[in-house]
Amino acid sequence: MSKVKYYYDSETLSYRKIEKKKGRKLKIFVLSLLGMFLSGFLLLLIYINLPSVQTPKELSLQRELNNMELQFELLNKKMNQAQAVLAEVEDRDNNLYRVYFESNPIPEEQRKAGFGGINRYKDLEGFDNSKLIINATRNLDILTKQIVVQSRSLDEIAKLAEKKEKLLAAIPAIQPVKNEDLTRMASGYGYRTDPFTKARKFHYGMDFTAPRGTPVYATGDGVISRADNTATGYGNHIVIDHGYGYESLYGHLYKYNVRAGQKVQRGDIIGFVGSTGRSEAPHCHYEVFKDGERINPINFYYGSLTAEEFAEILTKAQQENQSLD
Ligand SMILES: [Zn+2]
Repeated sequence: MSKVKYYYDSETLSYRKIEKKKGRKLKIFVLSLLGMFLSGFLLLLIYINLPSVQTPKELSLQRELNNMELQFELLNKKMNQAQAVLAEVEDRDNNLYRVYFESNPIPEEQRKAGFGGINRYKDLEGFDNSKLIINATRNLDILTKQIVVQSRSLDEIAKLAEKKEKLLAAIPAIQPVKNEDLTRMASGYGYRTDPFTKARKFHYGMDFTAPRGTPVYATGDGVISRADNTATGYGNHIVIDHGYGYESLYGHLYKYNVRAGQKVQRGDIIGFVGSTGRSEAPHCHYEVFKDGERINPINFYYGSLTAEEFAEILTKAQQENQSLD
């Protein structure tokens, strides 16, 4: 039961009941509700418009984000540096190594192929830092691809180098008789007087005069294709097949210590100077063949002679004298 309140009316000199107005109560209620809404709305406005007001957790997250952006930028810089170094390696690869081993340079498009067309970074889009992250990812992808191509190129070059090394070891590149064992370089390649007929005749080899029994060396790696005395004129002689179209012949030997089919290396002793066959005095008649044609052996001594020694042997070999055959 609600309390009933009275007041004293001096006009009528009596107590009268206080009548409460219902409308006033409702008005107070609506006003206070409006007030609550307004203050709530104001607080929300303040909260939205003041982002600088952050919780400690937000502050720490923001710091972490800033640090990550910085690290990404550093990463991009480092990748650019790596790219510059790789570009130099590629340049050397194209213009030096591949040229030296007679291999075509790898075009730029092939080294960086596969990065146009479709957008492979769609998943990384739509974030504040998308550009930074896509940039770093793309740089790394291109770098990886370039390294793979470069690595394959070096594999190829390693194989070519091995082949070239074998070729260089095979080419007849030294004298068959050592310079210090040599009495003289008797006769070179070209027209010479035949020691027996005294006619002017083409001499297809070089004659190295040395005492009987002086060692004769294989001038390049290869396989002995013959070691016998059945060919007219050459007496005891040896032929080495060096591969790659090269052969060398050693004639008029006193004796030999190899047989057909045997593998030899440059510098191995294969026989000894003699005067067997059509020969006037002890010497080693030496010939070099390329693809079946006899060529001037003097162009092949780069493996054992100094520039002075080569000049000397060149002068002697060019004199048109009498060969020993
Ligand atoms: Zn000769």
